[in-house]
Amino acid sequence: MTHIPGLHHVTAIAGPAQANVDFYTGVLAQRLVKKTVNFDAPDTYHLYYGDAAGTPGTILTFFPFAGARPGRAGPGMAQAYAYAVPADAFDIWVERAGAFAEGASITLRFGARVLTLRDPDGAPVELIEVAERSSAQIGGFHSVTLWQQDIGPTARLMQDVFGYAEAGHETSHGFERLRLCAPGDAPGRLVDLVRSDRAVQGHAGAGTIHHVAFRARDNDEQLGWIDRLATAGHRTTGVIDRQYFNAIYFREPGGVLFEIATDPPGFAVDEPAATLGQALMLPVQHEHLRPQLERVLPPLRVA
Ligand code: ZN
Repeated sequence: MTHIPGLHHVTAIAGPAQANVDFYTGVLAQRLVKKTVNFDAPDTYHLYYGDAAGTPGTILTFFPFAGARPGRAGPGMAQAYAYAVPADAFDIWVERAGAFAEGASITLRFGARVLTLRDPDGAPVELIEVAERSSAQIGGFHSVTLWQQDIGPTARLMQDVFGYAEAGHETSHGFERLRLCAPGDAPGRLVDLVRSDRAVQGHAGAGTIHHVAFRARDNDEQLGWIDRLATAGHRTTGVIDRQYFNAIYFREPGGVLFEIATDPPGFAVDEPAATLGQALMLPVQHEHLRPQLERVLPPLRVA
């Protein structure tokens, strides 16, 4: 049976773009693999960070707005994204965090250390130690955490339709946490569903996650997901061309906006792999706006 291999990307909302670039390329040493605009509102950037090649499962993207009001995660929203770091490099990251991050903390989750940093908009950025990797670099996502009022319906979707399996259950720091794992060994194959008895109301804004995208290996597989999701009672959008992948979207039963994005064509479709992220890339429908966009979008310096 076809299953989802893991995360494709996570998209979040940020405040001023330069601070976002400084943190993700400077502190976290991610590569800016695409500098483009929000295709649905082209007077704002859409920035993509990832590993050197822009591999699915390593991609974190932002819509930065200079005047964005701060948001806060709550039930029905994705709460945090986590990167995997090798256990033997964890202490290096703790030291680096001490050097430039206010309010960094270390907790334990399923027996692994979790270093939580705050990005310039206050978003929690988790670095979780893993045994199997051996580079000091962050090499992709470990997991994403979804905050639910009731984790049952989302867990059923992930298990019965996406093909994930239960991989752990624990209660700590006031959160009940169910861990689900996709088959295989792709980066970002874990999804944690959490619920809390605390009465918290979340709201979208800077520092919050806009949507979570899962992978389809190709266009045919994506079309298959439209059918399988329909059979399970989830209505998706039609296929939308996002230039670097094709996308379908639907609201999962817990309230989080899910996307399924294709691996191809990838980020080297419109500029050389060696210079990804350097030039402002526009999709063909917005190319005529280039002169005015280059005037309104602030220039960005990459670390
Ligand atoms: Zn997306």
